[in-house]
Amino acid sequence: MNWEPWTGCYKISDGCTNCYFYGPNAKRHDQGEVVKTDKFDWPVRTNKKGEYNIKGDKILATCFATDFFLPEADGWRAEVWAMIKERQDIDFLILTKRIDRFMVSLPRDWGDGYENVNIGCTVENQERADYRLPLFLSYPIKRRFIACSPLLEPIDISPYLHGVHHVTAGGETGRAARECDYDWVLQIREQCAKADVTFWFKNTGAVFKRDGVVERINPFKETTVAKELGINDLRGKRLF
Ligand code: SF4
Repeated sequence: MNWEPWTGCYKISDGCTNCYFYGPNAKRHDQGEVVKTDKFDWPVRTNKKGEYNIKGDKILATCFATDFFLPEADGWRAEVWAMIKERQDIDFLILTKRIDRFMVSLPRDWGDGYENVNIGCTVENQERADYRLPLFLSYPIKRRFIACSPLLEPIDISPYLHGVHHVTAGGETGRAARECDYDWVLQIREQCAKADVTFWFKNTGAVFKRDGVVERINPFKETTVAKELGINDLRGKRLF
């Protein structure tokens, strides 16, 4: 399940170039403007009996279509943290390209981190990995994952895997997508295996190179094709 308390975003790095949540390919006009959605308080909404509409033991992918740490959302985030804290029975996955805004975005009672919050740091190339991942590792976070997506080149994340619970990799989607080479995916998988970190190949991307052959993949099949390659570590299945 996805929860988007706000919508809208804008480019922060090369991985954003073909993001369809902003710019000319946005699904809606003005998607670069960051606004609250009508699902802002969704996790704590209740029915007439006073029961939560969303039952417990769920995973909520939070802000996957925007960025949790956008400065434009600074005035709303304290309320969102309070909702997350209230719903200890839900695991919240928060994925970001703005991990450098982490410390200025925390609630006062964060301490070493909330147990039910999984923070994912996205890296698309080596330069962003070398900038974002040392910061990511230095912050108080109980559960961490790295998302190498959209994977734009070979990346060595092996210096940054201590204390990381899971890694995903995926290619770029959309008509203008850049190529994703399967060798790059396998290299990351190998780095994870050596560090005993679970790995998941999320999607091939729209332009996938394998054994020297470049293929355009049907957008509805990118996940299935990746899965059928059989390289996922099933220990990481529940949360990711
Ligand atoms: S941060 Fe994420 S949602 Fe925002 S523009 Fe970049 S890729 Fe898109």
